[in-house]
Amino acid sequence: MLRLDGFYDLHIHSAPAPFVRIGDSADIARWCAEAGMAGIVIKSHFESTVSKAYHARLAVREAYPDFKVFSGIALNRGVGAKRIVITHPELAAPKLDLPTMVELAKAGCFMEFCAVNLLPMFYSISVQGLLEAIEAVTPERTILSSDGGQPFNPRPHEAIRIVIQSLHEKGLAAETFRTICIENQKKLLDLSAAAPPLE
Ligand SMILES: [Zn+2]
Repeated sequence: MLRLDGFYDLHIHSAPAPFVRIGDSADIARWCAEAGMAGIVIKSHFESTVSKAYHARLAVREAYPDFKVFSGIALNRGVGAKRIVITHPELAAPKLDLPTMVELAKAGCFMEFCAVNLLPMFYSISVQGLLEAIEAVTPERTILSSDGGQPFNPRPHEAIRIVIQSLHEKGLAAETFRTICIENQKKLLDLSAAAPPLE
Protein backbone atom coordinates (compact mmCIF):
# COMPACT_ATOMS: atom_id res chain seq x y z
CA MET A 1 0.00 0.00 0.00
CA LEU A 2 1.35 3.40 -0.93
CA ARG A 3 1.83 5.86 1.89
CA LEU A 4 1.04 9.55 2.02
CA ASP A 5 4.16 10.71 3.83
CA GLY A 6 4.93 14.34 3.09
CA PHE A 7 1.85 14.82 0.91
CA TYR A 8 -0.09 18.06 0.71
CA ASP A 9 -3.77 18.37 -0.10
CA LEU A 10 -4.48 21.84 -1.45
CA HIS A 11 -8.24 21.48 -1.63
CA ILE A 12 -10.32 20.37 1.35
CA HIS A 13 -13.76 21.47 2.53
CA SER A 14 -14.64 21.34 6.21
CA ALA A 15 -17.49 22.05 8.64
CA PRO A 16 -19.09 24.35 9.45
CA ALA A 17 -20.45 25.02 5.98
CA PRO A 18 -23.82 25.36 4.23
CA PHE A 19 -23.41 21.71 3.18
CA VAL A 20 -22.90 18.75 5.50
CA ARG A 21 -19.20 18.01 5.84
CA ILE A 22 -17.37 14.90 6.99
CA GLY A 23 -15.65 16.75 9.81
CA ASP A 24 -14.47 20.13 10.97
CA SER A 25 -11.07 21.55 10.16
CA ALA A 26 -9.49 20.14 13.32
CA ASP A 27 -10.80 16.62 12.60
CA ILE A 28 -9.54 16.69 9.03
CA ALA A 29 -6.16 18.15 9.96
CA ARG A 30 -5.76 15.38 12.54
CA TRP A 31 -6.67 12.62 10.09
CA CYS A 32 -4.25 13.95 7.49
CA ALA A 33 -1.44 14.42 10.01
CA GLU A 34 -1.99 10.91 11.35
CA ALA A 35 -1.71 9.60 7.79
CA GLY A 36 1.75 11.16 7.55
CA MET A 37 0.82 14.12 5.38
CA ALA A 38 2.72 17.41 5.62
CA GLY A 39 -0.08 19.91 5.23
CA ILE A 40 -3.47 20.93 3.90
CA VAL A 41 -5.28 23.91 2.46
CA ILE A 42 -8.84 24.46 3.68
CA LYS A 43 -11.05 25.95 1.05
CA SER A 44 -14.47 27.49 1.13
CA HIS A 45 -16.70 28.78 -1.62
CA PHE A 46 -18.30 31.24 0.77
CA GLU A 47 -15.90 32.75 3.24
CA SER A 48 -12.34 33.25 4.34
CA THR A 49 -10.98 30.13 6.01
CA VAL A 50 -8.30 31.92 8.00
CA SER A 51 -9.92 31.15 11.36
CA LYS A 52 -10.63 27.55 10.37
CA ALA A 53 -6.96 27.11 9.51
CA TYR A 54 -5.95 28.74 12.78
CA HIS A 55 -8.08 26.38 14.89
CA ALA A 56 -7.01 23.34 12.91
CA ARG A 57 -3.37 24.24 13.46
CA LEU A 58 -3.98 24.65 17.18
CA ALA A 59 -5.66 21.23 17.31
CA VAL A 60 -2.69 19.36 15.87
CA ARG A 61 0.16 21.57 17.01
CA GLU A 62 1.18 19.50 19.98
CA ALA A 63 1.16 16.07 18.34
CA TYR A 64 2.30 17.23 14.89
CA PRO A 65 4.24 20.47 15.28
CA ASP A 66 5.40 20.52 11.65
CA PHE A 67 1.99 19.92 10.10
CA LYS A 68 0.94 22.93 8.04
CA VAL A 69 -2.57 24.27 7.62
CA PHE A 70 -3.30 27.04 5.14
CA SER A 71 -6.46 28.87 4.26
CA GLY A 72 -7.45 28.98 0.62
CA ILE A 73 -9.59 31.24 -1.45
CA ALA A 74 -11.98 29.72 -3.96
CA LEU A 75 -10.96 31.77 -6.95
CA ASN A 76 -9.38 28.91 -8.74
CA ARG A 77 -6.41 29.81 -6.71
CA GLY A 78 -4.00 32.07 -8.51
CA VAL A 79 -0.71 32.42 -6.72
CA GLY A 80 1.18 35.00 -8.69
CA ALA A 81 0.90 35.41 -12.42
CA LYS A 82 2.70 32.24 -13.39
CA ARG A 83 1.12 29.99 -10.83
CA ILE A 84 -2.42 29.59 -11.96
CA VAL A 85 -4.10 26.41 -10.77
CA ILE A 86 -7.04 25.18 -12.80
CA THR A 87 -9.26 23.11 -10.54
CA HIS A 88 -10.74 19.89 -11.92
CA PRO A 89 -10.20 20.99 -15.52
CA GLU A 90 -12.20 18.05 -16.89
CA LEU A 91 -15.45 18.96 -15.10
CA ALA A 92 -18.46 20.78 -16.57
CA ALA A 93 -16.87 24.02 -15.46
CA PRO A 94 -14.36 24.57 -16.98
CA LYS A 95 -14.60 21.39 -19.10
CA LEU A 96 -11.32 21.67 -20.92
CA ASP A 97 -10.34 19.13 -23.51
CA LEU A 98 -6.94 17.53 -23.34
CA PRO A 99 -5.26 19.68 -26.02
CA THR A 100 -6.38 22.83 -24.17
CA MET A 101 -5.04 21.45 -20.89
CA VAL A 102 -1.72 20.70 -22.57
CA GLU A 103 -1.59 24.20 -24.00
CA LEU A 104 -2.29 25.81 -20.61
CA ALA A 105 0.22 23.52 -18.93
CA LYS A 106 2.85 24.61 -21.42
CA ALA A 107 1.99 28.20 -20.55
CA GLY A 108 2.78 27.40 -16.91
CA CYS A 109 -0.63 26.60 -15.42
CA PHE A 110 -1.10 23.73 -13.02
CA MET A 111 -3.96 21.29 -13.58
CA GLU A 112 -5.49 20.33 -10.26
CA PHE A 113 -7.15 16.94 -10.56
CA CYS A 114 -9.32 16.00 -7.62
CA ALA A 115 -9.73 12.56 -6.11
CA VAL A 116 -13.46 12.96 -5.51
CA ASN A 117 -13.96 13.21 -9.27
CA LEU A 118 -13.05 9.53 -9.56
CA LEU A 119 -15.59 8.54 -6.89
CA PRO A 120 -19.31 7.82 -7.41
CA MET A 121 -21.07 11.05 -6.45
CA PHE A 122 -18.77 13.50 -8.27
CA TYR A 123 -17.54 11.12 -10.94
CA SER A 124 -16.14 12.85 -14.01
CA ILE A 125 -12.95 11.02 -14.93
CA SER A 126 -11.75 7.42 -14.95
CA VAL A 127 -8.44 6.21 -13.58
CA GLN A 128 -7.33 5.57 -17.15
CA GLY A 129 -8.50 9.04 -18.22
CA LEU A 130 -6.61 10.64 -15.36
CA LEU A 131 -3.49 8.65 -16.15
CA GLU A 132 -3.59 9.86 -19.75
CA ALA A 133 -4.23 13.44 -18.68
CA ILE A 134 -1.26 13.40 -16.28
CA GLU A 135 0.97 11.99 -18.99
CA ALA A 136 -0.22 14.63 -21.46
CA VAL A 137 0.09 17.73 -19.26
CA THR A 138 3.14 16.18 -17.54
CA PRO A 139 3.52 15.51 -13.81
CA GLU A 140 5.43 18.80 -13.49
CA ARG A 141 2.17 20.63 -14.26
CA THR A 142 -0.18 18.36 -12.29
CA ILE A 143 -1.35 18.50 -8.72
CA LEU A 144 -3.58 15.92 -7.12
CA SER A 145 -5.94 17.21 -4.43
CA SER A 146 -8.90 15.58 -2.76
CA ASP A 147 -11.63 18.30 -2.99
CA GLY A 148 -12.94 16.13 -0.18
CA GLY A 149 -14.94 16.80 2.95
CA GLN A 150 -18.35 15.54 1.79
CA PRO A 151 -19.96 12.86 3.96
CA PHE A 152 -20.51 10.52 0.97
CA ASN A 153 -16.81 10.47 0.12
CA PRO A 154 -13.96 8.87 2.06
CA ARG A 155 -11.98 11.11 4.36
CA PRO A 156 -9.83 13.42 2.22
CA HIS A 157 -6.53 11.63 2.80
CA GLU A 158 -8.15 8.27 2.07
CA ALA A 159 -9.65 9.63 -1.17
CA ILE A 160 -6.14 10.61 -2.26
CA ARG A 161 -4.75 7.25 -1.22
CA ILE A 162 -7.38 5.38 -3.24
CA VAL A 163 -6.55 7.42 -6.32
CA ILE A 164 -2.76 7.17 -6.11
CA GLN A 165 -2.97 3.45 -5.44
CA SER A 166 -5.27 3.06 -8.46
CA LEU A 167 -2.98 5.13 -10.69
CA HIS A 168 -0.05 3.07 -9.48
CA GLU A 169 -1.84 -0.22 -10.29
CA LYS A 170 -2.41 1.19 -13.79
CA GLY A 171 1.27 1.88 -14.22
CA LEU A 172 2.08 5.34 -12.85
CA ALA A 173 5.48 5.14 -11.15
CA ALA A 174 5.53 5.74 -7.42
CA GLU A 175 8.12 8.54 -7.85
CA THR A 176 5.57 10.50 -9.87
CA PHE A 177 3.54 10.97 -6.69
CA ARG A 178 6.43 12.91 -5.20
CA THR A 179 5.97 15.40 -8.02
CA ILE A 180 2.16 15.60 -8.11
CA CYS A 181 1.48 15.30 -4.36
CA ILE A 182 4.51 16.97 -2.73
CA GLU A 183 6.92 18.97 -4.90
CA ASN A 184 4.43 20.95 -6.98
CA GLN A 185 2.40 21.77 -3.88
CA LYS A 186 5.51 23.08 -2.15
CA LYS A 187 6.18 25.36 -5.10
CA LEU A 188 2.61 26.65 -5.02
CA LEU A 189 2.72 27.22 -1.27
CA ASP A 190 6.14 28.85 -1.54
CA LEU A 191 7.68 26.10 0.54
CA SER A 192 10.15 25.31 -2.21
CA ALA A 193 13.08 26.46 -0.14
CA ALA A 194 14.69 23.67 1.80
CA ALA A 195 12.94 22.94 5.07
CA PRO A 196 14.40 24.95 7.93
CA PRO A 197 16.89 23.06 10.06
CA LEU A 198 15.33 21.22 12.98
CA GLU A 199 17.58 22.52 15.73
ZN1 LIG B 1 -13.90 22.32 -3.88
